[in-house]
Amino acid sequence: MALIVHKYGGTSMGSTERIRNVAKRVAKWARAGYQMVVVPSAMSGETNRLLGLAKELQPAQSAAATLRELDMLAATGEQASSALLAIALQAEGLEAVSYAGWQVPIRTNSAYTKARIESIDDVRVRADLKAGRVVIITGFQGIDEGGHITTLGRGGSDTSAVAVAAALKADECLIYTDVDGVYTTDPRVVPEARRLQTVSFEEMLEMASLGSKVLQIRSVEFAGKYKVPLRVLSSFTPWDIDLKEEARSGTLITFEEDEKMEQAIVSGIAFNRDEAKISVVGVPDKPGIAYQILGAVADANIEVDMIIQNISKDGKTDFSFTVHRNDHARALDLLKGKIVPALGAQDVLGDNKICKVSIVGIGMRSHVGVASKMFRSLSEEGINIQMISTSEIKTSVVIDEKYMELAVRALHKAFDLDQPTS
Ligand code: ADP
Ligand code: ASP
Ligand code: MG
Repeated sequence: MALIVHKYGGTSMGSTERIRNVAKRVAKWARAGYQMVVVPSAMSGETNRLLGLAKELQPAQSAAATLRELDMLAATGEQASSALLAIALQAEGLEAVSYAGWQVPIRTNSAYTKARIESIDDVRVRADLKAGRVVIITGFQGIDEGGHITTLGRGGSDTSAVAVAAALKADECLIYTDVDGVYTTDPRVVPEARRLQTVSFEEMLEMASLGSKVLQIRSVEFAGKYKVPLRVLSSFTPWDIDLKEEARSGTLITFEEDEKMEQAIVSGIAFNRDEAKISVVGVPDKPGIAYQILGAVADANIEVDMIIQNISKDGKTDFSFTVHRNDHARALDLLKGKIVPALGAQDVLGDNKICKVSIVGIGMRSHVGVASKMFRSLSEEGINIQMISTSEIKTSVVIDEKYMELAVRALHKAFDLDQPTS
């Protein structure tokens, strides 16, 4: 009997009426003979609400003891929605049981608020499935070695679902959300965006890492590592549509490049407002500078994304890099306090009104001139590029945040992503 994992996001679980709809859809699959495991998110807005309360009481939240409590708190959102879904399934006449992460258990490391799953015990879940029950497992959470509750980072229920599917060797993991698949870019920003019937695993990985929040990046990494068949589809279709039709809908993440298919050069555009830029100006241009600046930043556990160093003039150079916006103030303080005086640099400048816009496509591997087309299109809109980074299948630029939507729309058009393929 095939085993299927469904994941429902916050909007899909947003009210008792929607939870009832989810229950009816899951019941349809269970009655068709599938073994069902369901991973829900908290009801929409709930995680923000809980974390907002904590922020009122303690605005500075970097202490490990506080982070532990944030996880203790945020995990309750998924516990509530999971129990409600079990109750709704029971009301549909099915046997259903819900488990919090610690009850499965889903074991993680101890990095509170961004823990990583290390292992999942399948014994309890398999016993329930064998007994004919629908099993509901809270998204977003686990338990560490010391028995403390952890959470997996925002959007982490996607990762819970794929990890559960991998652990149970599920036949497919279906991610039900408030859009009907993965689009060429966020359809809320570009209404002309088109749904992709398939997207390669590598492209999805890039899109997720570059800001498309339709799937959390770690869920895509898990899918790749364990070859979990993964599909993104809508939870807003009528629950009673034909099951076979539903199973074919949305976007399939594929692991093999289809030689026959006409490959678009650029498949999607991602953007992200989560970064901030730091420039160290007038640094003496000598060996060890990058290490002194970035080493100190890394020692403070601050992740760096893009880096550029300008050519030197009169023995001095400018050195710029980006960090997560949440770490911006801390990184600036660190540099201003110790590093810059020690280096003899002129100044440190910060800019947290930037964004990163990226084009992604496997076809970029075999085509030249893709990046220059991107730069031309941005220049035609009068948008200044502050930083550039490229890899085999993506080009990213940092620009002023106020031009983000304009840039995404212009690139979407320039690469004909609004035109039907085939
Ligand atoms: P859920 O609560 O179901 O996990 P999310 O809000 O986390 O849903 O993710 C779905 C949202 O992702 C969509 O509503 C859409 O605005 C956004 N999104 C961003 N990029 C894309 C994309 N390329 N394709 C589809 N949706 C995207
Ligand atoms: N509820 C969590 C969040 O809002 C996890 C998720 O929805 O995936 O980030
Ligand atoms: Mg999500």
